[in-house]
Amino acid sequence: MALSVLVTGGAGYIGSHTARQLVAAGHQVVVLDNFYSGHRWAVPADATLVEGDVANSELVERLLRDHDIQAVIHFAGYIVVPESVENPQKYYLNNTVGSLSLMQACMETGVDKFIFSSSAAVYGIPEVLPAREDAPTAPINPYGRSKLMTEWMLHDLAVSRQLGSVPSDGQGDFRYVALRYFNVAGASLDGTLGQATPEATHLIKVACEAVCGKRQGVTVFGDDYDTVDGTCVRDYIHVEDLASAHLAALDYLAVDGKSEILNCGYGRGFSVSEVLNQVRQVSGIDLPVTIGPRRAGDPPALVADATRIHEVLDWTPQHQDLAVICRTAYTWERDGMASRAEAEAPSAA
Ligand code: UDP
Repeated sequence: MALSVLVTGGAGYIGSHTARQLVAAGHQVVVLDNFYSGHRWAVPADATLVEGDVANSELVERLLRDHDIQAVIHFAGYIVVPESVENPQKYYLNNTVGSLSLMQACMETGVDKFIFSSSAAVYGIPEVLPAREDAPTAPINPYGRSKLMTEWMLHDLAVSRQLGSVPSDGQGDFRYVALRYFNVAGASLDGTLGQATPEATHLIKVACEAVCGKRQGVTVFGDDYDTVDGTCVRDYIHVEDLASAHLAALDYLAVDGKSEILNCGYGRGFSVSEVLNQVRQVSGIDLPVTIGPRRAGDPPALVADATRIHEVLDWTPQHQDLAVICRTAYTWERDGMASRAEAEAPSAA
C-alpha cells in the first residue's frame, strides 16, 4: 500500500537510505531536514524536500496537512554519546522536546502512524546479553535518556488514544513502532549513498577515514573491559538492512499492527579490535592504532536479541556480514562521498 510519509532527518545517514527505499517502493515522501548533519544530495530526487526543524510546529502541521501525510518516520536527532554527556540540554531539547512537538503536530492533524529512531543506548549496561526488548531500561548517558523519554511519551500518547481521553477528532488510534538501533554502519551497495556526517565519531566511519588518509589513525577507547579481547563489543547492522526495517514497520502499521518496540540488530557482536582488523582486511591498508582511556558513557558490550523483530515484521536482512559492512563503508569513504558532493555542488561560475 503506497502511503504519504513525512521523513524527518531524511537528508541524514539512515534517513536518506530509508527515503530512497521508500521512493523505490512507491511511497510519496516528504523529507524535513534542517541540514545540521544532512546533505541535499542525499535526498532522492523524487522526494519533496523541505528545510526546517521538527520543533517548528507551525511548519510541521502545515506539511502534515498539505501533503495528506499518513505516517511519520522520525530520524532527526543528535547521536553523539560523548557530546550528550558534555551538553545534555542540547540532547533533551532536540531529541526529547523536538520529538514531543512533532508528536503534538501528529495529534493536531490526526496522523496516527509513527516510526521512531530509538537506540540500544536505552538499555545502558544490560545484565543479560543479548538484550531483549523487555530487559530493564537504564541508560547511562543523556543520549540514551533522551531516546528513552521519547519512547515513554509515545507509549503514553498511544495509551491515551486507546482510552479515548483525547477529544474525538474522528481519527483512529495512534500507533507507533520504536526501533532500537544497535550500531549502524556501511553504505549503499551501489556506492552512491553513505555516511557523510562531518566530524564523525563512530568507529567504522573513523577507521575508514583513517585508511583513506583523512586522519592519522584510530584511538581505541579502552582495552581493559571484561570482553573477549578487552575492547568493547557491539552489534553492527548494515544501514540498508536498518532502512528496510523501517519499510517493514510502515507496512506493519498500515495493516493496523499494534504499537511495538523492536531491537534492530543481528544478534551477534564484534569487538573494536575485530572491527579494526576487518577494515584493514577490506582496504588492504594498515591502520595505525593507539590505545587510549575509556570513553565516558560507553557500555562494555551491547548485542541485540533480534527474535522479536522477526516475529513482528516481515523483515529479512540481506547484509549480515561484517566484511560487507566494512567494505561498503570503505568504498564510500574512498570514492563515493567526494564524487557525490562534487556532482551536486553548485558550479563555481
Ligand atoms: N570506539 C573507539 N574509537 C573510536 C570510536 C569508537 O574505540 O574512534 C569504540 C567506542 O568506545 C565503542 C565502539 O567503538 O566501544 C563503538 O562506538 P561508536 O561511537 O561507533 O558507537 P556507540 O556504540 O557509541 O553508539
